[in-house]
Amino acid sequence: MFDKVLIANRGEIALRIHRACRELGIHTVAVHSTADSEAMHVRLADESVCLGPPPPGESYLNIPAIIAAAEITNADAVHPGYGFLSENANFALIVEEHGFTFIGPSVRHIRLMGDKIEAKATMKRAGLPVVPGGDAPVRSDAEAARIASEIGYPVLVKAAAGGGGRGMKIVHDSDQLPQALAGARAEAQASFASDILYIEKYFDGVRHIEVQILADGIGNVIHLGERDCSLQRRHQKVLEESPSPALNDDERVEIGEQSAQAIRALGYRGVGTVEYLYTGSAFYFIEMNTRLQVEHPVTEMVTGIDLVREQIRIASGTPLGYAQGDIAFSGHAIECRINAENPETFVPSPGRIEGYHAPGGLGVRVDSALYAGYTIPPYYDSMIAKVIVHGASRNECLMRLRRALEEYVITGVETSIPLHLRLIANPDFVNGVYDTRWLERFVAGGDKSQASRSVADA
Ligand code: ADP
Repeated sequence: MFDKVLIANRGEIALRIHRACRELGIHTVAVHSTADSEAMHVRLADESVCLGPPPPGESYLNIPAIIAAAEITNADAVHPGYGFLSENANFALIVEEHGFTFIGPSVRHIRLMGDKIEAKATMKRAGLPVVPGGDAPVRSDAEAARIASEIGYPVLVKAAAGGGGRGMKIVHDSDQLPQALAGARAEAQASFASDILYIEKYFDGVRHIEVQILADGIGNVIHLGERDCSLQRRHQKVLEESPSPALNDDERVEIGEQSAQAIRALGYRGVGTVEYLYTGSAFYFIEMNTRLQVEHPVTEMVTGIDLVREQIRIASGTPLGYAQGDIAFSGHAIECRINAENPETFVPSPGRIEGYHAPGGLGVRVDSALYAGYTIPPYYDSMIAKVIVHGASRNECLMRLRRALEEYVITGVETSIPLHLRLIANPDFVNGVYDTRWLERFVAGGDKSQASRSVADA
């Protein structure tokens, strides 16, 4: 086992990783920008190193500075968290070349899944159903038009290197295609330094269902059930739950086993998430994430497995020590992502936290690095906390979630707590009837049931 882990991240996830390390008896090194010297992850870590100025390129994405920090603190391993460098194969390679362990999958698998075209082709070969569409980069507008008319409109133009919902354009007919291609190309180039695009069928009225995988790289691959992440704004998740209210037990077992089977065929190591669109009768693979997900706690709550602890143990060469049959799923869990933003306009609201009181009690978990007096810097993601609740049933979970959100006090900045409170009171959500476009209609149209419009739209 490692003696010291460098955590190459910030905010709640840096704290989350620190906690897992402490429980394993591992020392931690925090890295931070000059904007984060007072941050909780820095305060709690055994040691800390300042990487540079606030812009991520000069701090949290600054590979030479992170490697230097690992060297001067004599760390054994580097945990990348999510976002920042977590899916950067080059970073994983440099970490390993400098003699540190990268707490994550192999460089080969990060690279493979980082190219969404390659990922789809690989998963198709491994036996998974994939979203219909071109299985190669589009080389010209004419070729794009041919693929689009073959699969039929609407189509989605996507970036091969995409992430965070960027570089994605819905196209309803051929007239819109050239403009969508140009827009997606520019956005992809700016966000990912790659303008490689592909086209797939656009599915309306579907759910986003993903399967959590745990693989030790020495033959043991299991799944930890699914998460329903259909509540999204701009293709970004806002609230996640497990199990999905849309699946029956047979579907649940089948998609879990199919996913584990495909990952086994790859010889994958680490945690991973296999993402699908679910039409109500069929699953279509869209992509795989080779890192810890923001929403991993809902899986932890229903399985009792600490995913970060497992990541660290796997990276240190420890076998899983349990099999699929040992996993017991218990109750229901929901996570709300709390952002520092106006709950109606979504305009970010950085600033000083004047008052802070986190909810507690049975079945309530708050993953956050906030404290009273802390100043949220304007340079980074606006997510400041995750409220995760667990209950014996979905109903119990909903009642508990409302209670927890009502208890949560954050003053000094605006937060998305009021949006979550409205959302979880809506009958569609209470009934589990929602798809990936539901939240945008809800935000646009007030609090009435959106389900009838969803059917009319389809
Ligand atoms: P990113 O990596 O940018 O998050 P994903 O491929 O994971 O992109 O897709 C993000 C979200 O976009 C999905 O959860 C879904 O809501 C929507 N989406 C992606 N592909 C499709 C598709 N073919 N049809 C309909 N919606 C899609």
